Amino acid sequence: MADFATLRTNLEARHFSVQEFDTAAEATAYLQTQIQEKTVAFGGSMGLTDMGLYEALCPNNTVIWHAVQGHEVLKDAMTTNVYVCTTNGVAETGEIINIDGTGNRVASTLFGHDTSYIIVGENKISPTYDEALWRARNVVAPKNAQRLGRKTPCAAKGDKCYDCNSPERICRGLVVLWNAVNSMKTEIILVHETLGY
Ligand code: SF4
Repeated sequence: MADFATLRTNLEARHFSVQEFDTAAEATAYLQTQIQEKTVAFGGSMGLTDMGLYEALCPNNTVIWHAVQGHEVLKDAMTTNVYVCTTNGVAETGEIINIDGTGNRVASTLFGHDTSYIIVGENKISPTYDEALWRARNVVAPKNAQRLGRKTPCAAKGDKCYDCNSPERICRGLVVLWNAVNSMKTEIILVHETLGY
């Protein structure tokens, strides 16, 4: 059971804004009120698909998502007003962990937007940094490799990371947010439900 109170305290101490919701539906409704008449980009995420957030924001915003429009929109997605993504892991001590293959998502958590929203389902929360990183590498990444149909040992066996050197390796960059970056507002949306892997 995730310790949301400890996580929230530690995130706020690291200068992140934090909002907390019991359900993904409530989080989606909140983001609909916060994001209006903006350019918005999404990172690749099963959690965002689960939330139906693309459909929720499209009527009142210009939304870019390579999952819908293709990889040719990736550069345009780097400079939108708002960026929305989920995360691969969060430690209750407050570190936010993302592993990327293309690099677009981790880059957008560091720079390029006015506001970034990082959505965290309860399944992404681990007690310590080491446990959160272990989970991101050994649980989340193999499931993503399987979903993407990659020819990697983790996708074939589905049990752990093999730290492969496959041409189709999806784990090519690791970004840890120790604090909210100086260049933009970073808001963490905590959801008391499972979202994505
Ligand atoms: S490094 Fe390779 S084996 Fe490990 S999770 Fe990533 S793609 Fe899979």
